[in-house]
Amino acid sequence: MIHIKTPQEIEEFKVAGSLSKAVLRRAGRMVRPGVTTYEIDQIVESFIRLHGAVPGFKGLYGFPASICASVNEEIVHGIPSNRVLQDGDIISIDTGATKGGWVGDNAWTFFVGTPSPEAKALCEVTLDCLKAGIEQAVPGNHIGDIGYAVQTLAEKHGYGVIREYVGHGVGHVMHEDPNVPNFGKRGRGVKLQAGMVIAIEPMIALGTYKNHTLGNGWTVVTNDGKPAAHYENTVAITKDGPVIITQDAEGPWCSFQGGE
Ligand code: MG
Repeated sequence: MIHIKTPQEIEEFKVAGSLSKAVLRRAGRMVRPGVTTYEIDQIVESFIRLHGAVPGFKGLYGFPASICASVNEEIVHGIPSNRVLQDGDIISIDTGATKGGWVGDNAWTFFVGTPSPEAKALCEVTLDCLKAGIEQAVPGNHIGDIGYAVQTLAEKHGYGVIREYVGHGVGHVMHEDPNVPNFGKRGRGVKLQAGMVIAIEPMIALGTYKNHTLGNGWTVVTNDGKPAAHYENTVAITKDGPVIITQDAEGPWCSFQGGE
């Protein structure tokens, strides 16, 4: 069932969205060679709680942390650990905060030092995929228009579009209907209407889109070991067009470069 939000509810939702973006920026500022993903997670959880909010991910389906930290060939759902980030890594951080009863959800792939030219290009195109998907989030379009825009751009560059993990409706809980795949056909799927709030989150691989889950039951990695990127915003569909909920005073986007 799709929950339609009133304009007033969307305004309230922005509190959680703005904080979620601030959380993601806080995480990104910690990204640098020598730091562990566990250290980032600990700071993020403190940051969220200091702001009177609750980590959106911790405990969700049993996930043990406040961020998903997915490094290089890890696509999504990486568990923070004592892994030390190295110069040249890329790290996708997916995090969000629940505040005022609303759940913000956003993700960004940060550079650790200087990534390979191939990984850098992958990240830039994946962010463009997110922007292309958001442009389609207008009343009267269909879910398939979002996926089509993302998939077309990614595949034009020869990249793999992850099939098994998708965007989603978001509201009082992290995952609501409808699913928002990063692939699709124009005009297909649920018709978009004002008041829907969805997380649009392209997950794009440098090589094959085929993947598997590690023995920890969470971390999803590419089968060919090549890197993947992941960018996400929570977006409200309104009669005036898409409104990005996960933005703060600095806007909806982070820097690619961590450690600033
Ligand atoms: Mg999400």
